[in-house]
Amino acid sequence: MFEEVRQRPCGRPTKSGAPCRAQFSGPGFACKLHTTDHERALVEAYQKGLETGWAQERDWSQRAATAQIERLERQIRTLRDELDAKSRRFQIDGDQVVTVDGYGYRWKGPGTLEVGDRVLLPENYVSALRHGPGPFPGTVTELGTTYTGPLSTIVSRAPAAPRQSS
Ligand SMILES: [Zn+2]
Repeated sequence: MFEEVRQRPCGRPTKSGAPCRAQFSGPGFACKLHTTDHERALVEAYQKGLETGWAQERDWSQRAATAQIERLERQIRTLRDELDAKSRRFQIDGDQVVTVDGYGYRWKGPGTLEVGDRVLLPENYVSALRHGPGPFPGTVTELGTTYTGPLSTIVSRAPAAPRQSS
């Protein structure tokens, strides 16, 4: 009765005794005229329940999708960290290896560098364009590097970054 959606005859007895021939569709018991208040209330409650159910289902599948994405992201992070840990070099031929602003460098000393230390880097093609000729400053951003190619050597330590006067 509630699942029935297509047009169907009411069939309730009329004053003359013949079944009502009015058609109705959707969830319900009878045509508008023959539906009792109690039945109307039932139908309304049913429709409201359906809507709530759908809304909840949408909400649920959305939350499930979000949780799934977060799980995958966590997995990727873990795998990347594992790979990183395996391939990361902290020393080459006795030289300390650090990452400065995203690029790997060797450090021959004196002492060891820490994250946040300011250093002067040897001129390269890009730095020459950006900063002009000669060493240019950088900041140690990581200890070690995952870069596997040859590394340049840091020129020297540099004084702390000048305070921005703006
Ligand atoms: Zn009827």
